[in-house]
Amino acid sequence: MTGVQEKLKVIAPATGEQIGEIEETPIRQVEQFYHRGRMAFNDWSQLPLKKRLDYLRTLKEIMVNQMEAIAKIIADDTGKVLTEAIIADIMPTLDGIDHMCKHAEKVLKGKKVATPVLLIGKKSSIEYMPRGVVLVISPWNYPFQLAMIPVISALVAGNTVILKPSEVTPLVGKCIEELFSQAGFPEGVIQVAHGGKEVGAAFTTGKPDYIFFTGSVRTGKIIQQVAAKDLIPTTLELGGKDPLIVFADAHLERAAKGAVWAAFTNSGQVCMSAERLYVEKTIYPQFLALLKKEISTLRHGSDRDADVGSMTFPAQIDIVKEQLTDALNKGAVLETGLSPEEWEHGMFLPLTVVKNVNHQMKIVQEESFGPILPVIPFESEEEVIALANDTKYGLNASVWTKDRQKARRVASKLVSGAVVINDAIISVANHGLPFGGAKQSGIGRYHGDGGLKIFCHEKSIIEDSGRKKTEIHWYPYRDKYPLFLTLFQSYFKTNKNWIKFSKMYVKLLKKG
Ligand code: NAD
Repeated sequence: MTGVQEKLKVIAPATGEQIGEIEETPIRQVEQFYHRGRMAFNDWSQLPLKKRLDYLRTLKEIMVNQMEAIAKIIADDTGKVLTEAIIADIMPTLDGIDHMCKHAEKVLKGKKVATPVLLIGKKSSIEYMPRGVVLVISPWNYPFQLAMIPVISALVAGNTVILKPSEVTPLVGKCIEELFSQAGFPEGVIQVAHGGKEVGAAFTTGKPDYIFFTGSVRTGKIIQQVAAKDLIPTTLELGGKDPLIVFADAHLERAAKGAVWAAFTNSGQVCMSAERLYVEKTIYPQFLALLKKEISTLRHGSDRDADVGSMTFPAQIDIVKEQLTDALNKGAVLETGLSPEEWEHGMFLPLTVVKNVNHQMKIVQEESFGPILPVIPFESEEEVIALANDTKYGLNASVWTKDRQKARRVASKLVSGAVVINDAIISVANHGLPFGGAKQSGIGRYHGDGGLKIFCHEKSIIEDSGRKKTEIHWYPYRDKYPLFLTLFQSYFKTNKNWIKFSKMYVKLLKKG
């Protein structure tokens, strides 16, 4: 061991310049992190919820005051434009805090539950108990929001947290660490471990009490396997290949604007971005023209008014290139954009609409995570539902039509964690709605009431006054069988025979 700490270089993707260095957490410290987290759990879990929420309110105030500085860190570290840093990373986090401050007490409060007649005289209730030390592993595309919301939810529920943010956007990880420190969270309550997948893997094997992972399907499967060895519960928020369906009776200008935004916001590096566009055949040429017109108004850049930022992760460009090349080799045609060999070097990719594509192509089957949008015409509602569902993913979808009944009918048939009608992506922005995927887009949900409850053991309590000497279902069983038989038959018959039931009950009581 040299004692020299590894450093993560911070490169601004939009400019290629090094803008910082972050010390990597040495793997030998994993045990210390868990030890500190477990020590801190004793007090944090016992702190009244109101007090935990006070820490959150302080955090929120700091975030509001430092909003511009945080937005700049996010934009520099990811290459996304400032407007998107504010609307899609910072705002949803603040709104999530507000939501929790408003609802957490009700959600986490113990509840009384009715007790069935067969358990006469007892009381039933549910209690929510924090799990312990929660490990949150987060990705680089929305590095602020996708780390903050699970961390905050776990903290509110009374857990302590270790966050392993993405090594691709380490400045944001550092910024999160500093925000919690400024808000005065007690030592060990929230710790941030910096580093890449080796650090993530080391923390995964460190036996957390819960793992909340957001990232690729590939890593999600690895994490699930490791967690399964110790039966550690997990939530997995994974990839997507979301369909956007436009019917001929939609407001076409709105749908085209919406589709362009849904496909190209954050340079298409969105788990819920529109990655397959299905357009009703009768309006297909007209809609392609509208897309082209809308795209021509957009401007790449990193200034305040820019629309589309750069890619964040260089390796992602190779994936996009490979998918597009494969499609073009198989007969796809560019409607906008350039073929990959014409792309300039650098992290800004052309906004690319591709037609003549089919479901055998990678560009339609695999997650792209870049600014490319394959477009496919369809003829009927049944056909487009089948096409939309022909994927291993199921994160989000959107349906565009003025016929609300048709929209709801189609939405109900899509195998997807969420569906947005006449808009896209925004289901994630309502913290009252559960968020998560179907099929390989993930396991579990967060946001909403469930977003706090997943970080708790849901404990059932049933109590008896303890005054009676015995119970009818206890030993001895001698002579009880026929009485139970009559008791249950009289109780479970469609027309309950209460007289018979009471008689048998009294007889059983007498038997002791
Ligand atoms: P990734 O899986 O490569 O990395 C995610 C995180 O896991 C990073 O912090 C990384 O360091 C860590 N990691 C990698 N290997 C690990 C291992 N073996 N053990 C433990 N940790 C490990 O994903 P990414 O490239 O950062 O993010 C892009 C992916 O995330 C896309 O597939 C996208 O669709 C998905 N995503 C999903 C959601 C959602 O909510 N469903 C949101 C955003 C992104």
